[in-house]
Amino acid sequence: MNRLDGKVAFLSGAARGIGGATAKLMAQAGAKVAIGDLLDERGRQTAKEIEAAGGQALYVSLDVTSEASWAAAMDATVKKFGKLDVLVNNAGIFNGKGVEEASLDEWNRLVAVNLTGVVLGTRAALPHLKESGPKSEHGSAIVNLASIAGLVGSQLDPLYSLTKGGVTLFTKSTALEFGRKGYKIRVNSIHPGLIETDMGQQTFAMRARQQGTNDTEKARQTTLTLHPIGRLGVADDIAKGIVFLASDDAGFMTGAGLVVDGGWTAH
Ligand code: NAD
Repeated sequence: MNRLDGKVAFLSGAARGIGGATAKLMAQAGAKVAIGDLLDERGRQTAKEIEAAGGQALYVSLDVTSEASWAAAMDATVKKFGKLDVLVNNAGIFNGKGVEEASLDEWNRLVAVNLTGVVLGTRAALPHLKESGPKSEHGSAIVNLASIAGLVGSQLDPLYSLTKGGVTLFTKSTALEFGRKGYKIRVNSIHPGLIETDMGQQTFAMRARQQGTNDTEKARQTTLTLHPIGRLGVADDIAKGIVFLASDDAGFMTGAGLVVDGGWTAH
């Protein structure tokens, strides 16, 4: 189940972390995957690991805040693999400062990556997804990385929360727009809890600082108590959800948010 045989997927920010794990799982599920990131060396390494495991992968340099960069990434993907069936808007950044502490430049950067990046990615992929959608029973698919911080408030980073709330509603709105226009493109979001990636580590450091210490292990334990399931998430937990949303098994899902948070938002 959750197979992606014959599908071509593009994932932004997939050199490492959740995106990297998802690219690997998608390749195992039969997809050809294209990875775009700012981290060229790490991205090429991830693509190599996929190929070494028998998959097909392409790495392209991508800055999600640039329209020209997205156009080049889409061209390279379609040139190599012939089409595009799945877009994962995964690239994102976290700031970890309060409303009073974050500078205007930091806010503008959050908006550029977390919001403009998703809009530009969606627009760049759209012509290709419109073409492939009608050729598949359940259409083509977009999966947007939101967060639980796009569903409930975040005391750590209200500005990040504002961008992820935007991603949540952009997902629902584009699902409605593309449905109205008769495109066969499903659009869904995924909402991770705390996942132990580089970004996850960054949040422990922020939480420790807010508690007036440098004790990131204590901050990690505090965060752990917010997950009733009794552990923090790992990138594969989210990758499995993304593969599901991208696959035909989610063929009746659009405009939905899949919460994968170890129970955090059950509080
Ligand atoms: P990460 O920092 O490990 O990976 C993010 C990737 O995005 C990096 O490879 C980075 O180079 C890339 N990136 C950043 N800016 C970019 C840009 N301008 N252009 C292209 N690539 C860029 O983070 P992660 O934990 O894997 O997060 C992936 C997504 O999941 C993000 O959207 C994040 O907000 C979301 N998320 C993460 C968590 C968590 O706890 N880790 C929780 C909820 C949501």
